[in-house]
Amino acid sequence: MVTPSVPELKPSSRLLLGPGPSMVHPRVLRAMSTPLLGHLDPEFLVIMNEVQAMLRAVFQTENAFTIAISGTGSAGMEAALVNVVEPGDTVVVGVNGVFGTRLADIVGRCGGNLVKLEAPWGQVFPPERIEEALKKEGKVKAVAVVHAETSTGAQQPLDGLGKLCHDRGALLVVDAVTSLGGLPVEVDRQEIDVCYSGTQKCLSCPPGLAPLTLSPRALEVVKARKHKVQSWYLDLSMIADYWAEGKRAYHHTAPISMVYALRESLRIVLEEGLAARFARHRRHSAALMAGLGELGCTPNAAEGHRLPSLNCVKTPPGVEEAPIRKALLTGADIEIGGGLGPLVGKVWRIGLMGESARQEHVLAVLAALEQALAGAGRSVKPGEALAAAAATYAA
Ligand SMILES: *Cc1c(COP(=O)(O)O)cnc(C)c1O
Repeated sequence: MVTPSVPELKPSSRLLLGPGPSMVHPRVLRAMSTPLLGHLDPEFLVIMNEVQAMLRAVFQTENAFTIAISGTGSAGMEAALVNVVEPGDTVVVGVNGVFGTRLADIVGRCGGNLVKLEAPWGQVFPPERIEEALKKEGKVKAVAVVHAETSTGAQQPLDGLGKLCHDRGALLVVDAVTSLGGLPVEVDRQEIDVCYSGTQKCLSCPPGLAPLTLSPRALEVVKARKHKVQSWYLDLSMIADYWAEGKRAYHHTAPISMVYALRESLRIVLEEGLAARFARHRRHSAALMAGLGELGCTPNAAEGHRLPSLNCVKTPPGVEEAPIRKALLTGADIEIGGGLGPLVGKVWRIGLMGESARQEHVLAVLAALEQALAGAGRSVKPGEALAAAAATYAA
């Protein structure tokens, strides 16, 4: 056997402006490198309580059941659905992008009776469409929608949906992976029953945990299940005992360093304040979009429903998009995203999530795009996109 010779790890210093992961504050990286505690150490239990209290503040909820699932955002999605959906349950899912498609896939795997509402990628679901589906289907266990569709840049309006669902005995499940910490997610006011997120998007923490909160109404539904949850790892009845103060029954070993990281990232979110943080995301998105417009890009998502955290634009006509993205990565150390599914080759997705949403990053990516487009033979006046962004900042 040959012993492999592997050099020391020295990743490039990238500016992460893709659909996730986002930039991570040095304080979060420092927290991750602090010594491990045992996961049932009394000191660690205090840390879990602190994380829960801060998650409630960020989710804007009083829900006692507010935890972080071990796993990425998709684990949060899976936990949300496998605990709520039993075989034969009717679940209405809004599908207008990759993540709605994933929700629908999981409902099917749970043996649910999937009612798929579809909209073009970039459009959203008006409440009337959801109400219509609820009326038509009769007994519906849950309605699931994606608040921030990262594959299209569209923002699903949530106001009123919770009430609509509750009037007809259904739960409202919301994917807030690309919104939590970047735009308002008001779990209690919006009457959301199950809401999950991921650490690697607007919370600016590495991927690895999925914040999740359940309303008392959702907990009752989970408790009243006729069948055991088919996933042992994501069964909330057991995970609840692990997170419950006073119980802390061993279920699995929490990823200690990730919990440290989430604790620090939540401290940073709350130090800034939610309102200021949301305003910062909007400000930098407006400047970026102004600059992109100057380069011939047009927004993909419907007017009035555009995400500040994920700016999805159609590429300038006649431009091959992949070589430009490659030039950004290799020439300027900047990562942006391309399209998925029907949008492959047609869009750029520029994430301004958490720490990524900064003026210097907006200006850097616009300057790099100007240069890459000019390099590809487009007539781009140096500084024109930057000027448009600067004008927006000045306004
Ligand atoms: C990123 C994302 C997910 C999945 O999160 P992972 O961390 O990739 O598992 C789910 N929903 C939305 C809207 C996302 O943007």
